[in-house]
Formats: sequence, C-alpha cells, structure tokens
Amino acid sequence: MIKVRNIHKTFGENPVLRGIDLDIEKGQVVVILGPSGSGKTTFLRCLNALELPEQGTIEFHRDNPIKVDFSDRSVRKSILPLRRKSGMVFQQYNLFPHKTALENVMEGPIQVQKRDPKQVREEALALLRKVGLADKVDLYPYQLSGGQQQRVGIARALAIQPELMLFDEPTSALDPELVQDVLNTMKALANEGWTMVVVTHEIKFALEVADLVVVMDGGVIVEQGSPQSLFAHPKHERTKAFLHQLR
Ligand code: ATP
Repeated sequence: MIKVRNIHKTFGENPVLRGIDLDIEKGQVVVILGPSGSGKTTFLRCLNALELPEQGTIEFHRDNPIKVDFSDRSVRKSILPLRRKSGMVFQQYNLFPHKTALENVMEGPIQVQKRDPKQVREEALALLRKVGLADKVDLYPYQLSGGQQQRVGIARALAIQPELMLFDEPTSALDPELVQDVLNTMKALANEGWTMVVVTHEIKFALEVADLVVVMDGGVIVEQGSPQSLFAHPKHERTKAFLHQLR
C-alpha cells in the first residue's frame, strides 16, 4: 500500500496543493481528474519527488518500505530512494533525442541502477516487444510517431522495475488516431497488475480501467470513488460541473 498524507506544495505565494490524502492499494489503477490548474501534475511530481512538498508524508509499504516526511529537514536524503519507487511517463515523452529507442530504455537501469548491461539489454528488448515496438528498437525518436515515442517512454519507465507507474496526461500531446495505441498499452499494464496513477482527461479509459477515480479542484481532492459510482452519481458540485464539461 502507498499512503499519502497531508501533502502541501506552494509555488511562491500560490498554494497549489492544500492537503492531499490518498491511499493506493497494490495493483490499483487510480485516475486523477480535475480542471486545469487544480494541481494534478504537481501532485504526481510530488509522488516522485520531482517537486518537494513543504509538508506531508509519503509511505511505500512493499519490498523496501520507506516513509518520507517532507517537513523533516533531512528529507533530501530520502529523495533518491523515493524517486526509485516510481516510473514516470510524461506528456512530452522526454526521450533522449540522440539515443535509439533501445538505448533510451536501457539508460536508467545502466546509468542510475548500475545494472549489468547485457541483462538490461535483454530486458529492454522484452519491454519494447511488450509495448509493440519490436521492429523499432534501433530507431531514434525523430523516426518514430508520437504514439510510438510515448510507448518507448512507457517501456523506459518500466525498465527501472518500479513499484508505481505515474502517467502525466500521456495522450494529450498525441494526434487523435495515435491515442488508442497508448491507452491500449496502459490497459495491458493495468491487466498485468501494475499499480498506476494516471492524470488524464480520457473519461472512457477511466470508466474501463480505473479502480478509483479522484477529482481534484483548487489543490484538494473534492471527491473520490469507483468510476461507476462517481460518474453516475457525483456528489460534489465541482465534480458535477467538471464532468458536465467533459461530456
Ligand atoms: P493542467 O490540467 O492544465 O495540466 P494541473 O491540474 O496539472 O493543470 P498543475 O500543472 O499542477 O495543474 O499546476 C497547478 C498550479 O501550479 C498552476 O497555477 C501552475 O501555474 C502552478 N505551477 C505548477 N508548476 C509550477 C512551477 N514550477 N513554478 C510555479 N508555479 C507552478
């Protein structure tokens, strides 16, 4: 289980996260919805310590358990262990342009985790097969479509063998005809039992794949529940207004 409590993050004078609590069970797919500026991306980046909250705790209970208290002055020591718990898939792919698909996937395990290159290569090839890119392993990002680049991004995040996969609007930069391939890849990961937190506006994906839908507004979680109950019977006015807008 991953336990998030009372996360606060302020940029300058702007309090962007104002006390986020969330429990994520092993194998659960959590979809985060919410209007632009509600703090979704910032929350995801806090889960991965790409942003440091001023306050709050994040606990991972599996394998090497870790509890990070962001109000603790010595928190910087915990950043790397926390970061290694999760793999992040970005909206803009963020691939290394001068590396092939295979080299992009091998980078983290070799450079960061210092693992054996031969074994990493075999695993990276298997991951690229898994995301449907077996025939593209030696191509550079500019030779791949946006959807293919994003699937390399997913393979790269998986390569560090994370406990948690984070997806930040992974399809929003894609042409409409490429979106489904990426969503199908994510759906396959969900079916394999990966624990995932996904920021997206894809309501159909949320309905089909999410175990838990969380609605953020103004830096807080205003409502959460199963997609079926939340979409059919939203309780909070902000949820109703937001969902109405998406329909
Ligand atoms: P969107 O759906 O548009 O991506 P979001 O819900 O993901 O929005 P965030 O990207 O988390 O929202 O941004 C929330 C607020 O935090 C915004 O007002 C944004 O301008 C601000 N913000 C985010 N990152 C930074 C930063 N690095 N420095 C200053 N302000 C930031």
